[in-house]
This record gives sequence, C-alpha cells and structure tokens, in this order.
Amino acid sequence: MSVAPTACILGWPLSHTRSPLIHRFWLRSLGIAGDYLARPVAPDDIAAVLQGFAAGTFVGGNVTIPYKEQALAAVADADPAARAIGAVNTLWAEGGRLLGANTDAVGFLASLDADAPGWGGGGPAVVLGAGGAARAIVWALLQRRFAPVTIVNRTPERAEGLALRFGSGAVAASWSDLPALLETASLLVNTTSLGMVGQPALDVDLAPLPATAIVTDLVYAPLETPLLAAAKARALRTVDGLGMLLHQAAPGFERWFGVRPAVTPELRALVVADLRGR
Ligand code: NAP
Repeated sequence: MSVAPTACILGWPLSHTRSPLIHRFWLRSLGIAGDYLARPVAPDDIAAVLQGFAAGTFVGGNVTIPYKEQALAAVADADPAARAIGAVNTLWAEGGRLLGANTDAVGFLASLDADAPGWGGGGPAVVLGAGGAARAIVWALLQRRFAPVTIVNRTPERAEGLALRFGSGAVAASWSDLPALLETASLLVNTTSLGMVGQPALDVDLAPLPATAIVTDLVYAPLETPLLAAAKARALRTVDGLGMLLHQAAPGFERWFGVRPAVTPELRALVVADLRGR
C-alpha cells in the first residue's frame, strides 16, 4: 500500500501557522492525495528532528521561527538565497541528503510583482527593521537592483550588522534620518513586528514620500495595518503582507508534490477569512 505524500511545518510554537490551510487548499484543488501537517517541535528536540528528517516519512517541509538558522546549519546543501540570507525555510531530501532553500525573498518579490505591477524599477528603498525577515527582504531588493537599500532599526547595531552582511548596496541609518530618507524613497518596507495585532502601531510620518512611492508591510494580521492605512490615505500604492505568505509557499509545494500551485483570489479569501475568525 502506498502512503500519500505528506509534508509538514516545523516550528515552536505553531499555534498561528496558516501553512496547513494553504497547502491543503492546493492539494484539494489540484486533486492530489497528500497532506501537510503542523509539527510543533520543542527546542530540545529540533536538532534530532532535523538530523533524522531526510530518512523520515515526510516528503519535505517548511521551517519557521525559531529554527530557520538551525535548519541552514543542518542541511547538506542550500540554495544561494538561503546561504546569502542565512536561513532555510524549505526542506526536502535527495539521495538521502537533506537540502534546503529560502523562499521568503522570492515570495516577497512575487507578491510585489503580482500586486504592484511595474514596481521593480530600482531606486532607493527603505527597510524598517533588522530581524530575520529583514535579511530576506534586503537580499531580495538588492537582487532587483534597488540602491541604496537603507536599513533603519530600533537597535542600530542590528541594522549595521545587516548592512555589513550584504556589502556596499545596503546601508544603515537611524530613525531620525527617516524624513530625509523618505523624500527620495521609491519603496518603503516594514519588516518590524509593529502594527501587528497586540503590538503598538508603527509611528512613521509618510508625508515626505514621493507620490509614486510604494509602501508594503510584512505584517498581515491585521491585513490593513496602520502603516498601510496611512499610505492609502495619502493615495500611495500599497501591498499587504499576505501575498508574501502565500507566494513563499508555492516553491515548496511544487518541489514536494510536483505541481506548481497558483496564488488565486480563492486562496487569498480562504486565508483572509481564517485571519478574521481568530
Ligand atoms: P524578529 O527577527 O523578531 O525582528 C523583529 C523586528 O521588529 C526587529 O527589527 C525589532 O527591532 C523590531 N521591533 C520589535 N518591536 C519593536 C518596537 N517596539 N519598536 C521598534 N522596533 C521593534 O522578527 P521577524 O521574523 O523579522 O518578523 C518581523 C515581522 O514580519 C513579524 O510581524 C512577522 O509576522 C512578519 N513576517 C511576515 C512574513 C510574511 O510572509 N508576510 C514573513 C516573515 C515575517 P530590534 O532589533 O530593535 O529588536
């Protein structure tokens, strides 16, 4: 008897993950007999789980907070994005070896390509935050030739460390520099957790941004953050964080189940309804 291919997500805690919802939607709509499970793994167990993953029963999996860096260390090889970003979010086995990729950056780019056509003309970009998500965003923007990519963070040392990681295209600046930076920015990206449900709003005055600037927020709960609402009030183009979440999932699904899934309005509506229900 053949067993249906099953993938999973490893993280801790996993109470808020929407990945099973997304992958099960694709499995169902594509008529694939497979499954995708949430596998919470406690910190004491993650090393053993990663070590045994290639020989286990899953066809592959995602890795989320707080294990993306540990996953990079555990794989035999990783794609250039994962190595540059320093984190793996997608796992699979080949010839008994555990391999990894990072799809956060391509997910971010695909989301902007889909939701803000023509956005990628380069120019100066401002990234707020210097945590794990910011690493993927800075790398993605450098790939699309934004210059300079200026990183602004509450803890300046982290912004400086991130800029150093990516070389001359990325620079660090302080919050007090923001008004001047925004005057010439073609893109503003929030990668901090500010604006998320239960967190204070991100307090940035968008008045200096040019009328052609695009504002995007990685936070997707709520879907319209105070930052995006302020950008809309100024009639700026905006992109919410849900697109990135959906698009980053597609490459893993294709690798594990053999079909490239589409990010459709039906999928988006399903996840929006789930976000509203919680
Ligand atoms: P992280 O590594 O913990 O980084 C958090 C960032 O937020 C840091 O830069 C931190 O600054 C900043 N921050 C937190 N509280 C702050 C405050 N009170 N004032 C100013 N700055 C503050 O988290 P992450 O993994 O990068 O995730 C960041 C956000 O992105 C989360 O909301 C997450 O849900 C979202 N995200 C979305 C997607 C998607 O697919 N849409 C993917 C990944 C992440 P310090 O360095 O000073 O602490």
